[in-house]
Amino acid sequence: MDLKEKIRVIEDFPQKGISFKDITTLIKDGKAFRRVIKSMADLVRHKEADLVVAPEARGFIIGAPIAYELGAGFVPIRKNGKLPGETIRVEYKLEYGIDIIEMHKDAIKPGQKVIVADDLLATGGTIFSTIELVERLGGEISAAIFLIELTDINGRENLSEYDVFSLIKY
Ligand code: 5GP
Repeated sequence: MDLKEKIRVIEDFPQKGISFKDITTLIKDGKAFRRVIKSMADLVRHKEADLVVAPEARGFIIGAPIAYELGAGFVPIRKNGKLPGETIRVEYKLEYGIDIIEMHKDAIKPGQKVIVADDLLATGGTIFSTIELVERLGGEISAAIFLIELTDINGRENLSEYDVFSLIKY
């Protein structure tokens, strides 16, 4: 099965010049979705993982089933004001704009092994901020995993001190 074929590319979304990789066409195919999660979990199965941490919203679609597959816990990273408990936060730059993301203060215990996950790696800004939150609580990053990597943007270079895995490259 060619998984890349299942991803729909939409030009000029959300703004002119962006070639958006739409994963909704992949995840609505049950066999393809299952293959993606299984293959991504296989890439990091040799890594220690107490927790998988992923940013909303597409990160949840990928991160939660990987956590389930690995037998790890799942911790959500959410946009400003969405989490009910006490949080820590970081302000960060997106491919298009600026945002604040938060994580519950008690989500991670010092020394816990963490895999961070998202649907797509572009500049690395989103996952770098996610990693910052994890490390502030004393979590140790064992891997970063993505369904899609945009190789010409070189996000991997921003993450050079971590083990980075991706399933599909553009
Ligand atoms: P970065 O922070 O690495 O520059 O951008 C990655 C983040 O932006 C991810 O959270 C991802 O969901 C979102 N993103 C940026 N471009 C795309 C795209 O073309 N397709 C999808 N599905 N997400 C994107």
